[in-house]
Amino acid sequence: MKVIVVGSSHGGYEAVEGLLKDYPDAEIQWYEQGDFLSFLSCGMQLFLKGKVDSADKVRYMTPEAIRKRGVTLFEQTQVTSLHSLAHEIEVKDLKTGKIRTEHYDKLILSPGAVPMQLDVPGKELKNIYYMRGHDWALKLKEKVLDDSVKKVVVIGSGYIGIEAAEVFARAGKKVSVLDLLSRPLATYLDKELTDVITDDLDKHGVQVYGGQQVKEYVGKEKVSAVKTAQGEYAADLVVVAAGIKPNTSWLKGELAMYPNGIIKTDDFMRSSADDVFVVGDATLLKYNPGQTMLNVALATNARKQGRFAVKNLVAPLHPFPGVQGTSALPVFDYKFASSGLNETNAAKLGKKIHSVLVEDDFRMDFVPEKENAHVWFKLTYDPKTKVILGGQILSKHDLTPYINVISLAIKTKQTIYDLAYGDFFFQPEFDKPWNILNLAGLMAEQKEAEN
Ligand SMILES: Cc1cc2nc3c(=O)[nH]c(=O)nc-3n(C[C@H](O)[C@H](O)[C@H](O)COP(=O)(O)OP(=O)(O)OC[C@H]3O[C@@H](n4cnc5c(N)ncnc54)[C@H](O)[C@@H]3O)c2cc1C
Repeated sequence: MKVIVVGSSHGGYEAVEGLLKDYPDAEIQWYEQGDFLSFLSCGMQLFLKGKVDSADKVRYMTPEAIRKRGVTLFEQTQVTSLHSLAHEIEVKDLKTGKIRTEHYDKLILSPGAVPMQLDVPGKELKNIYYMRGHDWALKLKEKVLDDSVKKVVVIGSGYIGIEAAEVFARAGKKVSVLDLLSRPLATYLDKELTDVITDDLDKHGVQVYGGQQVKEYVGKEKVSAVKTAQGEYAADLVVVAAGIKPNTSWLKGELAMYPNGIIKTDDFMRSSADDVFVVGDATLLKYNPGQTMLNVALATNARKQGRFAVKNLVAPLHPFPGVQGTSALPVFDYKFASSGLNETNAAKLGKKIHSVLVEDDFRMDFVPEKENAHVWFKLTYDPKTKVILGGQILSKHDLTPYINVISLAIKTKQTIYDLAYGDFFFQPEFDKPWNILNLAGLMAEQKEAEN
């Protein structure tokens, strides 16, 4: 069996690993259009902050290592078209310009996405940057180290925009973050938690301006400001983190897709064409808490989908279990994580939720202050069934793994009562006899009893 994998980031990498494990006799060809194999944008911030000393280390796999394992790798080779009836792809060697055709028995595509560009006047100006991939990592690092860059405007206050803002603020730049939404990280956290983060960003020199509609990049040759409907923000550098666009225009007419270019797939990662599987940021996933399909662009999801494409390669036996949209981020002094529904995405999906917020010290009063930490934990659940639908946690202490418990609780349809009386350990160096999750469950139980 000849299997071709396209894309060397999370989804593609996982597919190759899965093939090597489950189909050791398969002929595997792996294509990447870029000149750097299997970069993790997730690790870009660690490089930009100087915690990892080279962008070249931020990868899953080197070309030499994967070739040694028997995979035929083509770097700087773009797959330019698909002829699904003939089971063929056309590929272009970007170094030589040579084009050739390859036959496949099975094809796994993880073409991912590219950062959304804003179609406004001035978009061709210099110093408008994006935060994704190896090339941009190197370019951004130059600007982090460039003392002539004093003012940075970040467009977009999702987790990528906030990562960029932190990097440049830590490098001593004045950072302004602009977003259409009124609060930063609004799709991950509710207001009680983003208020804490907004104050912390402010303390570290990052000003967040909500309700901003970008109208124009101002400047001659280089960008000097971003004009919005609400104001003008001086900039030596602009970092645009305003969403993503699937990298799928070359598949138009061959695979069924939504108008925005997202490829339609079924529960088995199969596209509309026989023997063509699609995974990662270019697809929708089963989003369990909303009982709907959503684009949840995360490395974790792309990797799981890659694994399921391989599991279903010869027969559709393993439906994808779906995701809860679980993610985490450090922001200056704080660390947060969230999973499932919050007020913003519940409203978007038209879902009714109830929630409770526990604000407490994480450990007991007698534990020395420097080993204790304040924590905000918000639990969201179905008002009728009391089934848990979401959770958000924020603290200076790293309590993010708690949200993995909530993710599993959502998936397995646990109720607030299960959480209230869940058997969680107690040890004074770690937590309290009633764990923060128990407390939220108890608070929800009380709230529902009073209703
Ligand atoms: C700054 C940043 C931080 C992030 N942090 C996290 C995190 O902490 N945790 C997390 O879970 N997620 C994180 N993500 C999201 C995560 O990176 C994406 O969800 C993930 O990269 C998606 O993987 P993918 O394989 O679908 O696509 P991509 O990563 O977009 O990779 C697609 C690859 O395919 C190649 N390609 C595309 N078309 C072709 C073609 N026609 N021919 C040949 N090659 C092609 C591209 O060059 C690219 O290398 C982060 C993203 C960014 C930008």
